[in-house]
Amino acid sequence: MIRVMRRLVLALLLLVLTAAPASARQVDTGRQHHVGRQLDVGRYASPNPGSVNVLWISAPRGLVVIDSGRTLSEAHKTVAAIRATGRPVAAILITHAHPDHVGGLGVLHEAFPAAPMYASAATAEEIRTDSKGFYALTRQIDGADYPAVMTVPDHVIRPDQPLSVGGLRLETAEFGPGETEAETAFYVPSTRQLFPGDIVANHMTPALLEGHTCGWLTDLDRLHDRFPHAAKLYPGHGAPGPRRLIPQQTRYINDFRAFVAPAAAPSSPGGTTVTPEELATIKAEVEAKYPNYPNVASLPTLMDVNITAVAQEIATEGACHPGT
Ligand SMILES: [Zn+2]
Repeated sequence: MIRVMRRLVLALLLLVLTAAPASARQVDTGRQHHVGRQLDVGRYASPNPGSVNVLWISAPRGLVVIDSGRTLSEAHKTVAAIRATGRPVAAILITHAHPDHVGGLGVLHEAFPAAPMYASAATAEEIRTDSKGFYALTRQIDGADYPAVMTVPDHVIRPDQPLSVGGLRLETAEFGPGETEAETAFYVPSTRQLFPGDIVANHMTPALLEGHTCGWLTDLDRLHDRFPHAAKLYPGHGAPGPRRLIPQQTRYINDFRAFVAPAAAPSSPGGTTVTPEELATIKAEVEAKYPNYPNVASLPTLMDVNITAVAQEIATEGACHPGT
């Protein structure tokens, strides 16, 4: 009788667990239940504009946190969400050096001092030097809510070498220059979950301001080929989604280049410079095809800056043939 009761309780418990709603909230707690054969992934997404994800994988021996968010105040909320899981942090991995992915690292490191912080050598170097002045610019926008001094990762990810953290084996791959100079993607082969950093965003206006959209298209092809079995993606911006987020990002960048190309032609009204009229036309075209795509950056003029940078890239480099 006791055995029957115990089975009944277990069955009920299982029913409750499996009936839990899918994680569509802004904060997913990353508890230890499994979704199908995939490891549970927690996510803290800061609000728009400029929503950015901090993700954490439920590894066998703790959480593997990916990226750290932009501001200090959001980082404190991220720490609270991670603490709510009741699990230790085994490691913090940084995908790339953009301000919205490393600004919260100091707060996370202070909250979880035992967790090693990993980044590629190129990413760590950029965090140390701010060679592009992106952190200085972000301090102008976010003020005292952006760290005055950056926290630099203390462990190096060797190029394209696997990483074992928290009892989990991850594959890594280096990309760039594209979305940025250097970007690391993380892949869990046992569960086919891919963490592409900002190489892929889901329904958001990406930052094309580094002027390497051709390199970015190459990176997208490489990402697709490097992880042919990836089933679920957890991008740096926007909701997690299926593998088709990769070709969707490729399409966005190709469309964007096609909208900008006429204005970058020497024979166009402003020559290779984008005139205000051309700018307005391009913005209308992008908005018509990709309506309500929030900015990935806190920079309010992101779209204008994207258009100017891509026009300059096309004027200088011409057509793009990815992979050649
Ligand atoms: Zn980003």
